[in-house]
Amino acid sequence: MDSERIEKIIEEYGLQKFRANQMKDAIFNKSVSSYDEISTLKKDLREKLKVEQPLLCLEEHKIFKSSDKRTYKALLKLEDGRIIESVLMSPKPDHWTACISSQVGCAMACTFCATGTMGLLRNLSSEEISDQVLFWRQFIQKNGIDARLNNVVYMGMGEPFHNKTKVFNSIEELKNPETFNMGSRHISVSTSGLLKPIYEMAERFPQVNLAISLHAANDDLRTGMMPVNKTFPLEKLAEALTFYLDKTNRKIFLEYILLDNENDTLKHADELVDFASKVKPSKLLHVNLIVYNQTDSSHRQASRETATRFKDYLLDKGVSATIRKNLGRDIDGACGQLAVLDQK
Ligand code: SAH
Ligand code: SF4
Repeated sequence: MDSERIEKIIEEYGLQKFRANQMKDAIFNKSVSSYDEISTLKKDLREKLKVEQPLLCLEEHKIFKSSDKRTYKALLKLEDGRIIESVLMSPKPDHWTACISSQVGCAMACTFCATGTMGLLRNLSSEEISDQVLFWRQFIQKNGIDARLNNVVYMGMGEPFHNKTKVFNSIEELKNPETFNMGSRHISVSTSGLLKPIYEMAERFPQVNLAISLHAANDDLRTGMMPVNKTFPLEKLAEALTFYLDKTNRKIFLEYILLDNENDTLKHADELVDFASKVKPSKLLHVNLIVYNQTDSSHRQASRETATRFKDYLLDKGVSATIRKNLGRDIDGACGQLAVLDQK
C-alpha cells in the first residue's frame, strides 16, 4: 500500500477525499494488519477492500528469528510467486532497523556475495520496496515489540542504483509525511558504485545516507571481486564522491569486507588511505570494516587480530574507521547471506 494506491482506491470506489486520510492514519500510523481494524470505514466497504485491495502486495512466506532475538529474517512472497528476503534487526536496545531488498537477485555478480550468485531475476516495484517497511511495522505492532522502526537501509538483495527509478520513488514514499513519514537521515542506501545515481542522490536526496561497497582500493583487485569496477573504476568513483560531499557535506560510509590474504594487509590499508585522500574532504569518509560472512565462495574471513591491525593503521593515518558488528549470522540474515535460490 502506498499513497498512489490509496488515491486509486478513493477514485475507483467513489469515496470522499477525507477517507484517504483515515486510511493513511490507520495503515501507516497505527500499522493495522487488516481492514477489520479500520473502524472508520463502513463494514461492507471493508469486506470488499479485503478481497480486492490487499494491504500488502507481498505476503509472509516464512520468518526466522535469531537466537538472541535481535534479528528476524522474512521470506516474502510477491504476487508473481518470486521470493525476496527482508531483515529486521536491533543494533541497540529499543532501536529497530529494516534492511530491505530492491531487486530479486542482483546482476552485479560480486564474488563474495550470496545474492550475486543468483543473477538478476527482476526489479522490484516502488510499492514492493516500501511494503517491506510496512510489513515490518505491522510485524512490530502485532508482536507487541515495544519500540519503533527507526531506520531503513537499502542493503538487502539487489543493487539499488540498478533499479534507480523505483528505488528513488520508494524513498519519496518513505519520506512522505502523509504515509511513512520518515526523516531522510534515517534512510541509508548502499551501492556497489554505479556513478550517475550518486550524482543524482546528491541533488535529490542530500540528507539520505550513502554507503559505498568498496572492499578493495586498487583497481585490479577490486575488478576481480566486483566486476562493476571495470566500468566505474576507483578514480571515477573518487570524483563522484567528491561531488557528493561538496553538495551535501554529509558523511559517506565506505564498506570494506576483510578477506583473509586478499585485501587485508597493511599494503591494502595504505591503498585505502590513498583512495580516501583522493576524495575531498577526506574527513567526511568513514570506513566500516566488515567481518566476512561465510557464503559458498572460496573467500575466507580475516582474523580478529588482522582486522584490529588494519583498523589501527587507518586511524593512525587519520582515516576514521570502525569494525562493524554483525547481526543475524545464525539465520543467514547478515550481509551477503541473502539469497533465495529456489524461486518458485
Ligand atoms: N548491492 C548493494 C547493497 C546490498 S549489499 C551493495 O553492494 O552495496 C549490502 C552490504 O553487504 C554491502 O556492503 C556488501 O558489499 C556486503 N556484503 C556482501 N556480501 C557479504 C558477505 N558475504 N559478508 C559480509 N558482507 C557482505
Ligand atoms: Fe549485488 Fe551488492 Fe551483492 Fe554486489 S554486494 S552482488 S552489488 S547485492
